[in-house]
Amino acid sequence: MTQDGLLSLKRCLQGSSLPVPRRLSDPVRPTKKLAVLGSTGSIGTQSLEVARDEGFEVVSLAAGRNVEKLAEQIALFKPAFVSVLDEDVRTSLVRRLVELDVSCPDIGVGRSGVVRAARWDDADTVVAAITGFAGLEPVLAAAASGKKIALANKEALVVAGHAVMRLASDSGALILPVDSEHSAIWQCLMASFPSDLHHVILTCSGGPFFGRTRDEMNDVSVEEALAHPTWSMGEKITVDSATLMNKAFELIEACHLYGLEPENVRIVVHPQSLVHSLVAFKDGSCLAQVGTPDMRIPIRYALTFPSRSDCFDRTPFDLFDGSENKTWTFANVDEETFPSLRLAREVWCDGGLMPLVFNASNEAAVRLFLDGAIQLTQIFDFVERALDEFRHMSSIEALSFDDMMDGHHRVLRRVRTYAHTTP
Ligand code: NDP
Repeated sequence: MTQDGLLSLKRCLQGSSLPVPRRLSDPVRPTKKLAVLGSTGSIGTQSLEVARDEGFEVVSLAAGRNVEKLAEQIALFKPAFVSVLDEDVRTSLVRRLVELDVSCPDIGVGRSGVVRAARWDDADTVVAAITGFAGLEPVLAAAASGKKIALANKEALVVAGHAVMRLASDSGALILPVDSEHSAIWQCLMASFPSDLHHVILTCSGGPFFGRTRDEMNDVSVEEALAHPTWSMGEKITVDSATLMNKAFELIEACHLYGLEPENVRIVVHPQSLVHSLVAFKDGSCLAQVGTPDMRIPIRYALTFPSRSDCFDRTPFDLFDGSENKTWTFANVDEETFPSLRLAREVWCDGGLMPLVFNASNEAAVRLFLDGAIQLTQIFDFVERALDEFRHMSSIEALSFDDMMDGHHRVLRRVRTYAHTTP
């Protein structure tokens, strides 16, 4: 690490009061009543599975359009409040609940509905698992309301990490990482004093196209991009994993969560996804957190922290059972093929609204790829083009959520036009 890197690390670790607990002895209210935002998605359904196992009450839910799954969740958990995307979805949900003979909770819609679910008075803990920019406003609301937030929605930190962390610190809210890599770093950091940290090492599966050149990735299909070798996740994060944009977002997420600078975060490809991340200390030793690639483990840790639940039989990890995954490998990222990490470091340094442009341009480009309108590698081109075009936004600081939303939609609209124009 450079001298500058060490200095910035010191600066970050001294005098900052981050809302992520750093000691097992830090006072943390136990989880009793949950709000689950993004309840019908991959993280949301696994969080509800954990809630059922652990006996947590589920008091509010927020989802988009998946009426069938949401109705099942209402039947099972009987939340007092749910929120859905719009009035049409609300009508379908009410019809479905009548068919199932399930009593109807209070139902909100749209932005105000999700924010209400996040702030729900009774909820002590909020699982933030809505994908993309749509998840930001409820995270800000939960942070301002002093909730305990089990945070999966990394895009909220990419777009508005400073605001989320400041609001949480001011209100006494806690942020408990759910992303497996950040949960790993969090667990390892608790073994030392902050001043003993040297750097962190984020592991990266490499996605389905690890080892290919850019030319070899040009013609990959949507199905190939969605076939992640080790994790089963929602569509958007799976494409982000294939382009390593997910790792780029995680780099920014780690900087916000742990008060780091990008030069304090190294990335290493580990295709088996068993070592979830590592922390290196200044005496030359290094701690790693390992386990099966099963998101219920970090979700459960966030919700039961500082205790660990007794459920080894449900998520076993036997390193020495002599079967698969005997070989653990580590490799460098090919940053020529995958420019994502370089772009993350650049937008972090550029500041202002550039991380927002980064997230929005990727969100628009991923949608275009999933709709079959562009190739996978054009995601890189579109993001770089948007970062160039919106460079003036590095000098703009958002004053409000509405400013951020305006900026987000402006970038989305513009990037959609790239599909019809050549640069
Ligand atoms: P999914 O696509 O599986 O689920 C997304 C959820 O968000 C769904 O419940 C969806 O509702 C809901 N949603 C989408 N848009 C809106 C909206 N405008 N208003 C309300 N609800 C909305 O995503 P994942 O669970 O995979 O990921 C969720 C977040 O967690 C992402 O930020 C991701 O990066 C992060 N994460 C995910 C991991 C994983 O293993 N999946 C691992 C680490 C982080 P519906 O389906 O009903 O329309």
